[in-house]
Amino acid sequence: MTTPDGVTTSAAFPIPPRMTAWVLDGPGELRRTEKPVPVPGRAEVLLRIDAVAICPSDIDNIWYGWPAIVDGGPPFHKEWTPGHEYMGTVVALGPAVDEFSIGDRVAVEIHAGCGQCRRCRAGLYTACLNYGNRAKGHRANGFTTDGGFCEYQVNHVNTMARLSDDISDELGTLVVTAGTAMYALTEIGGLVAGESLVVIGEGPIGLFVAAVGKALGASPVVVTGLSPQRLAIAAGLGADHAIDVRGAEGRDVDAVAAVKAIVGPHGADYVVECSGAPVAIGQAIAMASRGGRVCLAAFPAEATNVDVGRLVRDNIALFGIRGEGKRAVHRACALMRDKKFDARPLLTHTFALDDLPTALLYAKEKRDGAIKVVVKPRGVAAGQVAAE
Ligand SMILES: [Zn+2]
Ligand SMILES: [Zn+2]
Repeated sequence: MTTPDGVTTSAAFPIPPRMTAWVLDGPGELRRTEKPVPVPGRAEVLLRIDAVAICPSDIDNIWYGWPAIVDGGPPFHKEWTPGHEYMGTVVALGPAVDEFSIGDRVAVEIHAGCGQCRRCRAGLYTACLNYGNRAKGHRANGFTTDGGFCEYQVNHVNTMARLSDDISDELGTLVVTAGTAMYALTEIGGLVAGESLVVIGEGPIGLFVAAVGKALGASPVVVTGLSPQRLAIAAGLGADHAIDVRGAEGRDVDAVAAVKAIVGPHGADYVVECSGAPVAIGQAIAMASRGGRVCLAAFPAEATNVDVGRLVRDNIALFGIRGEGKRAVHRACALMRDKKFDARPLLTHTFALDDLPTALLYAKEKRDGAIKVVVKPRGVAAGQVAAE
């Protein structure tokens, strides 16, 4: 069926006029409400959201308002729906869309650049110069535009990657995180097989940087972190060494010395900082070898003093990334389809969408060993926690 505004739908996926959506009032205050189901425009589809994972950035957006920017300011009291790590089923096609079909299962990436600024024209759409400008066509669902803590969302065709049937809905929500890791490693970091890789921080991004780095041939892959549970998962994902910087009997380990004992006294070819801890940024620079590279992939909450002179003296490149880019999500999806690593141990809890506030507390407080907490609009009864 095609509606007068050129949108194609199917009787197999009836679309209601309104949907359940969570919106953000004040800091940490989510409210369950109803919104009209959005209508896809040119080059867009409507997704029925089947699963959405909670990211540390969602916690920041909901409790602190940042890094989300809605209509040029903090996201509070704007009827804005957070959530950005979702997957779903295509249920309607905007005018002239033939890149996808109704019924396709897809994972999403976050950023749809404006497509017309000079960064977008160079493929750097995560650094779009019209970031947050909806009138220019920029979308970052769950950061600048409505996201995934609801039943339906509109996505640009450039922001979706098809999922094979053997990737579960829950696993599909992790593809975008794997894509961020891929972007940090390849396009930005220029990693080639055989280079040493150090990952600081064992949150979801850090774990994926280790997994994807290993799949791409980095050697050795070293992860430093604070949680024995998560460091064990890092080892399962392919890290050759997992260093608990808290050490035995509460004595902190010298993380830089511990890393150099493994990769050699010159330091590592590539260091990816995924913790956001102020001290870790200086450590990352200290761990890099002369001529090495350092990537900052977490959002530090405060300004920090680092030894910039070391960057100059030793020809070290330092760069930041904000999420996925250059279709890295598609390439990460291919690695997951080819079973280059098994990300399922990251999936610790699944809740019904109606229980989003509880699910967020599990993720925020790392309750019950929570790593990736997923919410689902259907298939999970409210008040029930489903372990993977
Ligand atoms: Zn995220
Ligand atoms: Zn742009």
